[in-house]
Amino acid sequence: MAVIGFIGLGNMGGPMAANLVKAGHQVVGYDLVPAAVEAAKAAGVTIGESPAAIAAAADVVITMLPGGKHVLGVYGDITPLARPGALLIDCSTIDVDSARKAHALAADKGAASLDAPVSGGVGGAAAGTLTFMAGGEADAFERARPILEAMGKKIVHCGGAGAGQAAKICNNMILGISMIGVCEAFVLAEKLGLSHQALFDVSSTSSGQCWSLTSYCPVPGPVPASPANRDYQPGFAAALMLKDLKLAQEAAQGAGAPTPLGAAAAQLYAMMNAQGQGGADFSGIIRMLRGEG
Ligand code: NAD
Repeated sequence: MAVIGFIGLGNMGGPMAANLVKAGHQVVGYDLVPAAVEAAKAAGVTIGESPAAIAAAADVVITMLPGGKHVLGVYGDITPLARPGALLIDCSTIDVDSARKAHALAADKGAASLDAPVSGGVGGAAAGTLTFMAGGEADAFERARPILEAMGKKIVHCGGAGAGQAAKICNNMILGISMIGVCEAFVLAEKLGLSHQALFDVSSTSSGQCWSLTSYCPVPGPVPASPANRDYQPGFAAALMLKDLKLAQEAAQGAGAPTPLGAAAAQLYAMMNAQGQGGADFSGIIRMLRGEG
């Protein structure tokens, strides 16, 4: 089995690294936060001295970091020391430009690289059922596939450098917009005296059907597993939705793509965050749309 470096052992990276250990890999991890380091140790991860030391020892280095600046900072440390033929896989959600810069840093030093952001959240990371959206060369993808399969159940090669990040922000822009649409429909139904269940029964089998309604219904009752049934505990926090919508807006502006609904969704999630609700599930935006405090 390959030696796998894992940098960023937080809410997502911690359980992902643990699943690699369970699959029989030797995992050498690193994080700045002592609690993350301790939890990873308990899961069987060996702790490295620094990202550079990990790069010098590992065949594959995975990063799972907050944002583009963290990824480029770490790539600046690890690419000069990466082993010949090393494979670098960045699973963080970051902007497409930074992802492409990270690929270029790797290529400069002869390392193969993939951007491979995920969907599925902390639950999917723990269960090993994440979806990976990968961008990069086909060879790098084929080398990464068995490793990603230890952490996820669906692995999609989306295209060249940055294509994984592009797929992630496009998908989450659809999700943010559709969730607000579903929430607005429920708020209108409430004002019109239509029950939640009646709207659900009609729309879940009609042209209004979508994942935000049928799998993640923002009102309690129709979909018992949705966060609405547990006071909007995440799930997928509104702050993370805002992060992804901002990345989509940045990409849209850079590419000259008109995304008026994406822009409106970003503004509404910014308002939800400004109201101190960034830690609530993103479906909790229905409370703000109702005018609840
Ligand atoms: P997190 O904040 O829990 O973890 C990030 C970790 O990176 C932290 O433990 C932090 O200490 C560490 N870190 C930061 N800079 C570092 C450095 N220079 N060297 C080593 N470690 C460093 O965040 P998370 O929820 O695990 O998310 C990680 C990424 O996954 C983000 O890009 C996020 O957008 C994405 N993501 C998160 C979710 C989710 O539900 N949490 C879902 C999909 C994608």
